[in-house]
Amino acid sequence: MIVDLHNHTPLCNHAEGEIFKYVEKAIESGTKYFGFSDHAPMDFDPKYRMSFTQMQGYEKAVLEAKEKYKDSIEILLAYEVDFLEGHMDKRVLNADVDYLIGSVHFIDEWGFDNPEFIGHYEHEDIDVIWQKYFDAIEAMARSGHFDIVGHLDLIKVFKYMPKKDINLIAKNALEAIKKADMVIELNVAGFRKPVAEAYPSVSLLNKLLSLIFLLLLAQMHISQSKYLSLVTR
Ligand SMILES: [Zn+2]
Ligand SMILES: [Zn+2]
Repeated sequence: MIVDLHNHTPLCNHAEGEIFKYVEKAIESGTKYFGFSDHAPMDFDPKYRMSFTQMQGYEKAVLEAKEKYKDSIEILLAYEVDFLEGHMDKRVLNADVDYLIGSVHFIDEWGFDNPEFIGHYEHEDIDVIWQKYFDAIEAMARSGHFDIVGHLDLIKVFKYMPKKDINLIAKNALEAIKKADMVIELNVAGFRKPVAEAYPSVSLLNKLLSLIFLLLLAQMHISQSKYLSLVTR
């Protein structure tokens, strides 16, 4: 079953293609669920997002497509929302949509995934940058506003990798995501970027799986040592 939930329209000024073209391509490829999750408006960095006045038209266009193609595909209406303290807007957080993707694209208002501002990587300790990024992911999960974590380890986009173990840096964020019962998207956009791999990395996915597994054991009241004694018998 193909589920494709992270798609932008030309309203965000960095995507192209009409809504119906996306939908027809999705139907052609056998997609069952196709979600439009364009960048939500925000009073910060307005260049790469729709304006508040465009929300209504966007929602209407997606809902029209949902109705028109309902016999062939399930279309969902959503937003990708920047987690940025002081800039998130109730009109977006309370929008009547199927889901919200929570994404971190800014660290203290620094657009770290924008090639225009790549110079900043040389001005701060790389481990500190990574930790700030995952602290923001953790706060995003704890906020309770979002359903899906967008591109979990986007901070690797330009391949400035930390010295410290990534699983340790991300530990609290992963636990907060699990606790919030959020979905983590598998996003292949990273293959087009210097890092040349998907978000999240295989290693982070493994870490997540083991977290989920430990939680299941706890729910069954089985300790880790008890489990190990059972499987190694
Ligand atoms: Zn996006
Ligand atoms: Zn994004």
